[in-house]
Amino acid sequence: MDLNFTPEEEAFRGEVRDFMRTAMPPDIRETIESGERADRDHMVRWQKILHAKGWGATNWPKEWGGTGWDPIRQHIFEEEAALAGAPRQLPFGLRMVAPVLMKFGSDAQKHRFLPRIPSAEDWWCQGFSEPGAGSDLAGLSTKAVRKSDRYVISGQKTWTTLAQYADWIFCLVRTDPEAKKQEGISFVLLDMKSKGVTVRPIILLDGAHEVNEVFLDDVEIPLDQLVGAENQGWTIAKYLLEHERSNIAGIGLNKRELARAKRLAREIKRNGKPLADDPLFAARVAEVEIDLMALEITNMRVLAAATKRGSPGPMTSMLKIKGSEVFQRISELILECRGAAALSCKLEGSKWSLAPEAAFYLNLRKVTIYGGSNEIQRGIIAKHVLEL
Ligand SMILES: Cc1cc2nc3c(=O)[nH]c(=O)nc-3n(C[C@H](O)[C@H](O)[C@H](O)COP(=O)(O)OP(=O)(O)OC[C@H]3O[C@@H](n4cnc5c(N)ncnc54)[C@H](O)[C@@H]3O)c2cc1C
Repeated sequence: MDLNFTPEEEAFRGEVRDFMRTAMPPDIRETIESGERADRDHMVRWQKILHAKGWGATNWPKEWGGTGWDPIRQHIFEEEAALAGAPRQLPFGLRMVAPVLMKFGSDAQKHRFLPRIPSAEDWWCQGFSEPGAGSDLAGLSTKAVRKSDRYVISGQKTWTTLAQYADWIFCLVRTDPEAKKQEGISFVLLDMKSKGVTVRPIILLDGAHEVNEVFLDDVEIPLDQLVGAENQGWTIAKYLLEHERSNIAGIGLNKRELARAKRLAREIKRNGKPLADDPLFAARVAEVEIDLMALEITNMRVLAAATKRGSPGPMTSMLKIKGSEVFQRISELILECRGAAALSCKLEGSKWSLAPEAAFYLNLRKVTIYGGSNEIQRGIIAKHVLEL
């Protein structure tokens, strides 16, 4: 294992950095750097810019229009993009349904759906969780009943991120209620404009409309929107979740937000001095920074192993836990920089809006829950890494 980048990788980093500097629209950069949330327009515009450069799908093979980069180059790209103030690329198409279609989809499905993902023509969302099935995903109850040339689907999905913009949703549905719970599940693709689909917002702690409930009332889909074989959905879901957890440490994102915390601490005065000069505050920043450096090295170890073995394996659970914890600690530092001013609220029309630092802090409570909660990740480490 070599923790240093090769000269070629350093040259690649320079190329990515130059591109980010010239291609990033200033309004997008300013939005992200001020701690505001990227909206749909920012995300689609940035995705189209990357696509035009040929960098729309950095985790895909060249065969399907991807860059064919190895995990190290993907990591360098992600880090430089985050540091340059780029919005995160939407993972649901690029990192979730696309790898599934490449491995389990029919040729017709690949040709129909894959090209429209990096070009941002189709916006995908993930319909896995249900009110009664989160960590215990195999307990899902949305059912699909086969009727001649269609499936008729009814049930409810929840926490569906950005479903309000989605053209398509990939869903896990129960096709065999008699089978053992993991064995009666299928993976289907559903057009969000289908009759019987209703999307209702769930407003998060920070007041943002980021997640939704999706109700499916006798929604009909043609049989060719089943991916893989009927009742193979659990195998497909496990494959998808492995891809969901790649780049989970969020090194670039953490570095960018830590830099923001430090910038704020230099600007803001406490007792007539910059907060950055307060030894207690400076010690807490240093602690987070040391943990972030350790995380970066661990991430390099996992990437080096993944490059050799082809898959990152259960060590990604460790990256998920540490990456999300560091991210939350940075959000606490940013909140503290603002002090009492972070408590201010503004009434905009009929909606209250929070100070951006408070909104960021509250929004980040989610990172230890989604993508498999941190408790579930600890269970994976105990079983598959420590073999307890
Ligand atoms: C902001 C946000 C966005 C999301 N986006 C999506 C999305 O787009 N699509 C989608 O399908 N889902 C999405 N999710 C859902 C997410 O995957 C689930 O919230 C997560 O899997 C946890 O499930 P749950 O909420 O039902 O909690 P539960 O599974 O009920 O867990 C409740 C608590 O019990 C703990 N727990 C549960 N089982 C165990 C165990 N075996 N051992 C130890 N502790 C345990 C959990 O860690 C948690 O603390 C999102 C969630 C959030 C918060």
